[in-house]
Amino acid sequence: MIQLFLPLNFLGFVYREIRRALTDLENMLGLLTRKPAISDAPDAKPLQLKGGEVKFEQVSFGYQSERLILNNLSFQVAAGTKVAIVGASGAGKSTIARLLYRFYQTQQGQISIDGQDISRVTLESLRQAIAIVPQDTVLFNSSIRENIAYAKPDASAAEIEQAINMAHLRQFINSLPQGDATLVGERGLKVSGGEKQRIAIARAILKGSAILIFDEATSALDSMAEQAIVAAMRSVAHHHTSLVIAHRLSTITDADTILVLKNGSLIEQGDHQQLLRLQGEYARMWQQQAQKPTVP
Ligand code: ATP
Repeated sequence: MIQLFLPLNFLGFVYREIRRALTDLENMLGLLTRKPAISDAPDAKPLQLKGGEVKFEQVSFGYQSERLILNNLSFQVAAGTKVAIVGASGAGKSTIARLLYRFYQTQQGQISIDGQDISRVTLESLRQAIAIVPQDTVLFNSSIRENIAYAKPDASAAEIEQAINMAHLRQFINSLPQGDATLVGERGLKVSGGEKQRIAIARAILKGSAILIFDEATSALDSMAEQAIVAAMRSVAHHHTSLVIAHRLSTITDADTILVLKNGSLIEQGDHQQLLRLQGEYARMWQQQAQKPTVP
């Protein structure tokens, strides 16, 4: 009996491993094949990057033509500054990021970087100029170091070290059994939402883009995890033009400008203190969040 059991057990193991590998491949292909509709204009030229100034001018957009999601939106992010976008769920915050990365084409208006219309530059140069820290980061089944270096496989040890420090990951990595060689992902160490976002910040730093889009996770984080992310974002902000899609207003009180979006329109604009004095929508959201119990 045991002679039959062992090979069958082994076959079962092989089958499970193949299935897992296929699922990983499927996830990967899902990411790579998303949005093939956008392509380079015939006369597209590489983006000539200067400081990374971002400008939206009278931009209107809807995923379906009958339903506008962004309505005549204009704003500017000066090179090297930090702009936060806030507003209720569904207001259109992430849509702004998707348009800047050209996952979709605007129906009206123009988006430019350093004075160049993004629909007239090559997609490759546009996407090299922007690094995105998504809400939910995919970790590959490999070491934490390889996960960080994924944005730049030929990164030097010093570059990786700098990204780890700027993303405030050093303490976390030191606490792991095998340091940065520790395996993470589905088959390795489970990593918390906050740690995952800091790994994504380290990836973005390594990519070396002038513009950083940070899509804050909606899931609740404890205050330590939130502080670590805010600290990581602050050290990155010194070197980038940053666009932060924020859900917790406490994380963006230091932004140079905060844009308040409601149903796809810009209803208020200013820094934290100016917006509180205005006693409008932002002040109301601030009050509301201050009353919410914090996550232990
Ligand atoms: P949240 O804070 O919940 O992330 P958000 O302000 O970022 O919300 P968006 O993701 O920009 O909101 O979505 C704005 C609107 O566009 C929502 O009503 C949403 O349902 C719709 N929407 C988003 N993506 C698509 C899509 N791919 N196709 C059709 N509608 C979409």
